[in-house]
Amino acid sequence: MASIRVDNSNCDLCGDCIAVCPFDAIEQTEDTIQINAACKMCNLCIEACPRSAIQITQDTQSVNKDEWRGVLVFAEYFEGKVHPVTFELIGIGKKLAAQVGMKTHCLLIGYNLESTAQMLLTYGIDTVFVYDDERLLRFSADTYTNVFEDIITTLKPSIVLVGSTSIGRSLAPRVSTRSRTGLTADCTTLTIKQNTDLVQIRPAFGGNIMAQIITENHRPQFATVRYKVMDCAPVVAPFGSIEYADVTDKMTDTKIEVLRVIAKDAAPSITDADVLVVAGQGVKDKSDLALIEDFAHALNGELAVTRPLVEKGWSDYTRQIGLSGRTVKPKLIITCGVSGAIQFAACMNASEIIIAINTDKTAPIFKIAHIGIVGDLYEILPSLIEKIQGDCEYAI
Ligand SMILES: Cc1cc2nc3c(=O)[nH]c(=O)nc-3n(C[C@H](O)[C@H](O)[C@H](O)COP(=O)(O)OP(=O)(O)OC[C@H]3O[C@@H](n4cnc5c(N)ncnc54)[C@H](O)[C@@H]3O)c2cc1C
Repeated sequence: MASIRVDNSNCDLCGDCIAVCPFDAIEQTEDTIQINAACKMCNLCIEACPRSAIQITQDTQSVNKDEWRGVLVFAEYFEGKVHPVTFELIGIGKKLAAQVGMKTHCLLIGYNLESTAQMLLTYGIDTVFVYDDERLLRFSADTYTNVFEDIITTLKPSIVLVGSTSIGRSLAPRVSTRSRTGLTADCTTLTIKQNTDLVQIRPAFGGNIMAQIITENHRPQFATVRYKVMDCAPVVAPFGSIEYADVTDKMTDTKIEVLRVIAKDAAPSITDADVLVVAGQGVKDKSDLALIEDFAHALNGELAVTRPLVEKGWSDYTRQIGLSGRTVKPKLIITCGVSGAIQFAACMNASEIIIAINTDKTAPIFKIAHIGIVGDLYEILPSLIEKIQGDCEYAI
């Protein structure tokens, strides 16, 4: 990985580099020039230096992996709630840590966090590091990045796990860049080697291959993980501790002022639904989607679709399950006229109960279904809807 280095023996402290740096990333001590973590490698200082004392160099040395210990989970906290992906990250984080004898920690940023920190301990966390300050009440990429950088510098975790949420996707690249290390986004599987190298597996090239990515020469190892892919950590008797860290003015210094927050209408999401009914290409006409939707609503569930239906313009992309859509893990999923291609199945096969309706008894979906119904969806669904709306009571 490249970095900017100053040859202070050749520097006459003219200050041209400091003047030209747009990121305040260059500091002058009594007799040296230092590049700090805010450097974005724009190279303007290299061009500005009249004595060629600033150079870009490739770091070839491997990191000492023994100096970096523990798994740090970012506990995403927003509007008084912890995002549920956090409990999944703790689940996988604890599993990975146990395999190599490391501890699992959480980073919690926000305001008035005491009860939330206590709650996190009940998921078997060793230490919850808390940055509790009114200035951190709302998420802001730059202040949260500063705070994140602070814990990484002091804790030196081997692995950092962040949810693939809007906030996580905004934060993780910034923090990993500051830490001069790699980031694997959107992981669906994580394993660990005995030398603490994290094997980060994710779909690549539009879902055509599953890539295995390793950060061999740098620490920490940063991964964002898709929601609803990992199992939640179980609740246990708490044994860990809470550590409150100082929040400095430098951490909260920002050029962004949040004037007001306008809440978006919370549209029902297939990721959060307990029950999903999926329409595939066995549905012959766009108007027939109403039948699938009626069935979903009869079960208090949501309609989801396969990719071809989105491509035909029959449904919105937000309802697509699959490698190029969403990953789901509901309590019940019923697929109607879905063949079960790998790009679809890989993102729903962890669902608790899978029921498949398909006319073709050799369809791959039956390999992962717990209950398979070989038949025509146009015959099966109307009678099922009638039954559900009639005398049956369903509580899921
Ligand atoms: C890079 C890449 C990424 C992809 N990403 C995704 C993705 O994210 N999501 C996704 O879904 N796909 C994705 N695909 C496409 C995927 O490979 C499949 O083509 C797709 O999932 C098939 O959708 P389907 O099951 O609806 O259709 P089909 O494969 O055509 O299956 C239709 C099924 O309906 C059955 N059927 C027909 N009539 C009836 C009836 N009356 N009653 C009951 N059953 C009936 C048939 O027997 C058949 O099994 C991707 C492909 C690639 C190459």
